[in-house]
Parts: sequence; C-alpha cells; structure tokens
Amino acid sequence: APVLLWFRRDLRLADNPALAAAIDTGRPVVPVYVRDDEDAGDRAPGGASRWWLHGSLKALADDLASRGSRLILRSGKAADVLDDLLQETGATSVFWNRRYEPWATARDEAIKTSLKERGIAAKSFNAALIREPWEIQTKDGGPYKVFTPFWKALRGLGDPDRPEPAPDRIPAPDALPKTENLDDWKLPPEKPDWAGGLRHTWTPGEKGAQEQLASFVDEAVMAYDDKRNFPGTDGTSRLSPHLHFGEIGPRQVWHAAIAAGMSATGQPMPKGVETFLSEIAWREFSYHLLYHFPTIPKEPLRPEFADFDWKDDAEGLKAWQEGRTGYPIVDAGMRELWATGWMHNRVRMIVASFLVKDLLVHWRDGEAWFWDTLVDADLANNTASWQWVAGSGADAAPYFRVFNPVLQGEKFDPDGTYVRRWVPELKDLSGKAVHAPWTAQPLELKEAGIALGRDYPEPIVDHAVARKRALERYQRMKDGN
Ligand code: FAD
Repeated sequence: APVLLWFRRDLRLADNPALAAAIDTGRPVVPVYVRDDEDAGDRAPGGASRWWLHGSLKALADDLASRGSRLILRSGKAADVLDDLLQETGATSVFWNRRYEPWATARDEAIKTSLKERGIAAKSFNAALIREPWEIQTKDGGPYKVFTPFWKALRGLGDPDRPEPAPDRIPAPDALPKTENLDDWKLPPEKPDWAGGLRHTWTPGEKGAQEQLASFVDEAVMAYDDKRNFPGTDGTSRLSPHLHFGEIGPRQVWHAAIAAGMSATGQPMPKGVETFLSEIAWREFSYHLLYHFPTIPKEPLRPEFADFDWKDDAEGLKAWQEGRTGYPIVDAGMRELWATGWMHNRVRMIVASFLVKDLLVHWRDGEAWFWDTLVDADLANNTASWQWVAGSGADAAPYFRVFNPVLQGEKFDPDGTYVRRWVPELKDLSGKAVHAPWTAQPLELKEAGIALGRDYPEPIVDHAVARKRALERYQRMKDGN
C-alpha cells in the first residue's frame, strides 16, 4: 500500500523529513497538496501569498515530475480530502511536516486521532524550525517571553542536524489518483493584475530559494551586521517568503551560514553570521510565542493593552496603506510593499510605529494589511512583530519609545537612496530635505519641481504633536482610565 505524503508549508524536496521517511518505507509515495482555506478561515492566504503559492506549487510539481512522481492537488477540508485519497489509493499511512498556527495544530491533532482510530499510521515531522517550540524551556519548564535567554538556550543545544539532500527518485504507484488543475485555482490576480512587480522581483520555488541563499552567503552574510539596517543596500537575505513557504528550511540556512563563516575566517560564527543567525532565531522565537500563547494573533500579550484607546481613523489608515502620509521614509516603505510584496525590516518597524503611535490606529489593522500584501505574510512573525512594535508583546519595544520618522530616515537612509527609489517625486530634492520636504526652502522645492500638497502630500500629522498624544494615551491606559 502506498504512503500519502501531505505537503503543506514544506514545499521542497531537500531537507524534507516527512518525504525522506515516506521513501524509507520502501513503498510507493503519493504526494498531495490540499487547498484547505475553509479550515484556515480568516487566516487563509492573502493576495500576495496566493500569488506566491501558485508559483511555488508549480515549481514543486515540476521538481516531483523530474523524479518520476506527480503532485496531486485537491481542495476542500483536509480531513475529507485525505479520507477520499486513502480510499482511492488504498494507502495505509499519512506523513506530513508540522505547522504551528493554532487553527492548523487543532485540525492536525483531530486528523491524527481519527486516522489512528481507523488503524492508519499518521506521522508528523519537523521541517520548519531549528527546534520545536516545546524543546526550549526555561528552568521552570515554561516558555520564554524574552528573546536573549531564548537565543542563548537555542544556541546551547548546538547545531541542528545536517540537512538531507533531495532524493533522486520518488517511487510512484502504478496509478496515481486524479488531480485538480492548478490554473483552475486562480491563485494569481487577474483583473486588475497587480502582480507585475512581484513577478519582476521574485522566483518562487525551491531552486529560487537555494539560489537566493547561495548568493547571500557568498556575497552578503559577512557584512550583514553592518548593512542589515540600511534599506537602500542589499544587506539582508530576502529569504523570508522562501522560509515561510518552506521552500528552504532553517537548518539549511544555518549550515550554509556557518560554512560561509568558516571559509572566510576559520570560525563558524564571525559577527555577520552570528547576527544573521540571531534573526533566524527571532523567527524561532515568534513560533515559540505563537505555540505557547495561541491568542497573540488577536489579543495583546500584555493584558493591560486590552484597554488601550485606539483611534478609528479610516482616512489615516488609507493614506498609510497607499504611501501618502507625507513622511517620505514611511511612504517609501508602503510603496515598496505594494510594488514588490516585501519591505525591509527597518522600514517595517518605522511604518508600523507610525501607524500605531502617530496615527493611533490599532495594530491589528496594520497586521491585516501586511497579511494581504506581504509575500512573506506569516502568522507567527507578523503578529509577534506587530505586538512588539505596539509595545503589547513579549520583550516588546517599550511603548514610550516612539520612532521619529525623519530621524530614522536620516540615520538609516543617509543619502536618501531608498526614499528616492520609491518616492520618485522627491528624487530631485537634495540633502536632508528628502526626509522632511516641508523643511526645504521654497526655492529648493521649486527647483526640484515639487509643490507640497500637489505633487507630494503635506504631513498628515505633526510628529511632535502626535508623539505627545500617544504618550498621553499610554499614560491613561497605565492609570486605568
Ligand atoms: P533577513 O534579515 O535576511 O533575516 C533572515 C530571516 O530571519 C528572515 O527571512 C526571517 O525569516 C527571519 N527574521 C528576520 N527578522 C525577523 C524578525 N524581526 N522577526 C521574525 N523573524 C525574522 N517576517 C516574516 O517573515 N513575515 C511577516 O509577516 C513579518 N511581518 C513583520 C511585521 C512587522 C511590523 C515587522 C517589524 C517585522 C515583520 N517581519 C516579518 C520580520 C522581518 O521584517 C522580516 O522577516 C524580514 O524583513 C525579511 O527579510 P529578509 O529575509 O531579508 O531578512
């Protein structure tokens, strides 16, 4: 009898423990992907993620075909789809790699129980994390809420296992069950087709992921510590969507990074590599938090924030989404996001702070926009990061630390390269004025061809006033009134 291999967020052949175990049984393998938006509910993939998923499934199907196998696509509730496939194929076991979103863990547990009751072997594996969320515990046996000791504990467990290479062949049964047609799922946008910038920027799939990792460790990881905060440079890996969809796993990233460190310095963890791996560990920390505190996608981790007096500001939210706040670094970030489905981490922090502190709009509205527009939209990373910025999360930036968007721009985009790329109407403004056009002399503006309010917006709030207002609301929350 064949083995059902249920692909989920592990859309790769190398370093895929469920696939390796399925092949090890010596039986034929039936690889299946289930589009299960019903179980995911309001956490079904957003627009940019659907675009990516299409490309990733296409690449996976090709890779499987080149190894003598075939990807079976089905849609519906996963439990029902798996039951159908068990009947159709006569399979007696189902293997998969784990997911950690609360809706997915609840569903998977129910499926596992029901399969086992019927004598079907159900086995799950770890493809997505360096360590499982329950493997890392404080001295009292509880979860961590602070990053640094978490990272120390993770490092203390040593290097993760070495990743396995992709199998050369995947044994197929004589007859494979029928598959739906990927194009019929209509995952990419049609009218309007807003995905041009995404197609131009990214190559979804395992091969694209491996090439991205190889060029990052060859060219940039050693300088990561110096460059990662500057959005105008190529200082970071851009692996986030590949990691999110499991086209590459963190064990592969870990070993590639320490090998690069070793060949450059004779040490596995020179500064650049260490800082990079600590960011990979932030991802682990987010998953640890989501697993142990499954309410974080909706509720503040610090309960006092439940009473924060957020503002209903549809107009402000829209200006933020469209990159029309009048603060160039904020608008550049929001436009980069819209055009490419990705935004540099430093700028994510700046735009998020602007939304929750300068505009006082609830972080959940920002999180929802990111969910729909990011190609790396990830329940764990997105909600943990928004709560971090809002001050309501674990180990969060204290609420009273309000980013000044002008100073952040001057510091992290010192020559204005990033702003000029994404806000081209400001490209002829020179010097610091590119981060605060309202401070430019009238003649300067005229020479740069800009009339504020016509070619580029006036700031929608005065940051100094907004900052004071935010701090007052925070104080009111703390005082309980
Ligand atoms: P690199 O700097 O090369 O880092 C390597 C990998 O480490 C990343 O691919 C990512 O998987 C992980 N990582 C890096 N920084 C973080 C971090 N702060 N928290 C968790 N993991 C991290 N990341 C997502 O993957 N999905 C999201 O939905 C997401 N939403 C965010 C929302 C906000 C408000 C903020 C401030 C950050 C968010 N991040 C999110 C984290 C971070 O911005 C991105 O992971 C990073 O910018 C991706 O670019 P990179 O791959 O070049 O990162």
